[in-house]
Amino acid sequence: MRGIKLRNIRKSYGNTEVIHGIDLDIDEGEFIVLVGPSGCGKSTLLRMIAGLEGITSGELSIAGEVVNDKPPKDRGIGMVFQSYALYPHMTVFDNMAFGLRLAKVSAAEIKSRVERTADILQLTSLLDRLPKDMSGGQRQRVAIGRCIVRNPKVFLFDEPLSNLDAGLRVQMRLEIAKLHADIRATMVYVTHDQVEAMTLASRIVVLSKGLVEQVGTPLELYHHPANEFVAGFIGSPKMNFVDCRVTRTDERHIEVETVPGRFTARIPGVAAELRVGEAARLGIRPEHVTLCDDGIPGRVIAIEELGESHYLHVELEDGSLLVCREHGDAHTSVSASVRLSLSEDQCHLFDDNGRAQRQNLTAG
Ligand code: ADP
Repeated sequence: MRGIKLRNIRKSYGNTEVIHGIDLDIDEGEFIVLVGPSGCGKSTLLRMIAGLEGITSGELSIAGEVVNDKPPKDRGIGMVFQSYALYPHMTVFDNMAFGLRLAKVSAAEIKSRVERTADILQLTSLLDRLPKDMSGGQRQRVAIGRCIVRNPKVFLFDEPLSNLDAGLRVQMRLEIAKLHADIRATMVYVTHDQVEAMTLASRIVVLSKGLVEQVGTPLELYHHPANEFVAGFIGSPKMNFVDCRVTRTDERHIEVETVPGRFTARIPGVAAELRVGEAARLGIRPEHVTLCDDGIPGRVIAIEELGESHYLHVELEDGSLLVCREHGDAHTSVSASVRLSLSEDQCHLFDDNGRAQRQNLTAG
């Protein structure tokens, strides 16, 4: 097994524990993205895998070998940082060759590996340049190249695109996805950007406050969030949440009435634990709320224009808000009175503790 195993990994700084026992199996060749809000512990976790932070307790193995006490250079990993960390006085070639020279690789082998890597990353024409004469995207490619030449078992990325402007970020994101498709190495990637996580990951690990909230493919997290935190974190714009109360359940539906009685929804599925009368939260994504002739009345208070679509922020009669996506060709204006309908089969239900409650009948 050439993957990575984390067993009850914990990290404390002084008396403060910031990682509270994480278990995770990463298969060889997977692209795992660690995502979560600032301060949730994703960089600390990545740095523990890299060997740049000590592990307070638990066991970390890479390729079947426990590496808790191994220095970074002996773990078979390559790391790419947000800051690129290139040597400013060295050319692109020398930056990529540096680690291989230290490892006493022959000059001919270094030349061959650097040239092959430059070819993969479209850096061939830049091999004699200094970092100061290159764009941010090109520098980040050199930093990635410096990892590739060493042929590591595992690539670790710590917010590698955060210093790039929006356009370049999208381009580099595609390049990293293509790189993974080409070389099929195990990659662990940290970002706070859920769009980056959704587009790159084979599986996403959502972290909050030093704990794993959910692990799954991007679509599993999008369609079946395990709790309200994941539901609110994955997806842009955010899922709408509305307080409600369960009014009826049977073996095929859960009926809820939103508080204080704005509208009811009859949601297909079985409630895991919810009982009639219990408080719950209904979640619905903006793309599953539509305008209709006979639905929940409200007034448009703001419009986010995206071109191919736009998002209407609709204030309901009791002052609560629902965001709804509308096709870009439509021409609803601010202050318009509208009526909304929810796709009931797309509603999520969460209990008082935020745990997902609706079990989809078709999904089993
Ligand atoms: P993220 O990468 O998700 O933004 P970090 O892994 O950097 O989060 O930090 C996780 C938590 O650990 C935060 O509460 C942070 O303040 C704390 N932390 C990180 N590094 C140190 C340190 N060297 N000393 C004390 N606390 C730290």
